[in-house]
Amino acid sequence: NPALTQFGDQMSHLTGVRAIMKDIIETLRGGKDRDFINLSAGNPVILPEVENLWRDCTADLMASSEYGEVVCRYGSSQGYEPFIEAVLADFNQRYGLSLTDRNILITPGSQALYFFAANALGGYTTEGNLREIVLPLSPDYTGYGGVSLVPEALRAYRPAIEIGKEPHRFKYRPDFQQLEINQNTGLVLFSRPCNPTGNVLTDEEVRRIAELAAPHNVPVLVDSAYAPPFPALNFTEMTPMFGSNIIHCISLSKAGLPGERLGVALGDAGVIQVLQSFQTNLCIHSSRYGQAIATRAIASGALADISETVIRPHYGNKFTILEETLDAAMPEVPWFLHRGEGSIFAWLWFQDLPISDWELYQALKAHGVIVVPGSPFFPGLRDDWEHTHQCIRMSLTASNDEIVTGLRHLAKVVQAVYQSA
Ligand code: PLP
Repeated sequence: NPALTQFGDQMSHLTGVRAIMKDIIETLRGGKDRDFINLSAGNPVILPEVENLWRDCTADLMASSEYGEVVCRYGSSQGYEPFIEAVLADFNQRYGLSLTDRNILITPGSQALYFFAANALGGYTTEGNLREIVLPLSPDYTGYGGVSLVPEALRAYRPAIEIGKEPHRFKYRPDFQQLEINQNTGLVLFSRPCNPTGNVLTDEEVRRIAELAAPHNVPVLVDSAYAPPFPALNFTEMTPMFGSNIIHCISLSKAGLPGERLGVALGDAGVIQVLQSFQTNLCIHSSRYGQAIATRAIASGALADISETVIRPHYGNKFTILEETLDAAMPEVPWFLHRGEGSIFAWLWFQDLPISDWELYQALKAHGVIVVPGSPFFPGLRDDWEHTHQCIRMSLTASNDEIVTGLRHLAKVVQAVYQSA
């Protein structure tokens, strides 16, 4: 093997859930004689209405004179012009904005966008000062663990835990007593709705974070991979927030196009320009085929429509089933389900869990149920906090029967775990 550079070394390790996925794939592959209930998937379900929408858009593109222009040519690194126009028109009209083509960049998936931002704005300055990538509320998206070439730049903050009146429910809140955004901050980043917890930061919380960042000229990237208007995977009211230092980041992956790799950044022209140059150097531009079909789905309103009438209810109903099953099946141990405000996941916390999240994952696997242990969802958190080993993530992508059966197994395993302690 060739000698690796620091960056080479950093980028040749898989981080977070990707590392666990290897174990899960091997388990599923080895389990040919055994039916595992897989509650670990990160891939969205293929919903027939959504697949049909993309098929129709593709047919329309194929039949149009635009086809050659789209697939046989390079384009602008900023993105395909009709797609840019469709997104701007939709957002300006929907949210009363006046964004222009200087405020938008199309990227090959939103993960790429976070990579550009994390490395253009976080890491060492030319003077050698470290500018941090602040994750204001941990846990958050595990993929943030791999976005920086300078791992020490990532800093996450422990949340405040709110236990409401309703039994066995909780919610994370940003802890503004702890959170520091200052001259050493390069950018702030969080998902809303949040993968893995389903949390939605309130408008007020987002505003407060943006206000803390504004005096230091720090961009706040709001990862809106699950937000309205598409895929609209919010089960609670929420409004996308815009502002001079907010970069609103969209992904089409949960709206049925994960394979086409389409992300969008909306915000300050200066920041957009920096990200665009980064992208040009790295990969020139995103796939134009995906942009061309997404233009049709957005301009006609069909994508926003299907998001609200098909995608959101599909996962919302799964969350209800999950909640009802847990309430009925779980033993009297201190379990807490995070409020399901959005996303395609549910997050469970077991207070004083006698074993680690990894051991619980293994015990569940032995009973035929695969979940994701929670600890990889705390990238950048430097405290030794027992809570990080007391949680699991379950996805809402399984069938109703699988969810019910899987959770009944979970209840038995958890009961045995607490009893044996
Ligand atoms: N952000 C969050 C919160 C996600 O859950 C995901 C994917 O699961 C991504 C970003 C990456 O998505 P994309 O396919 O747009 O790169």
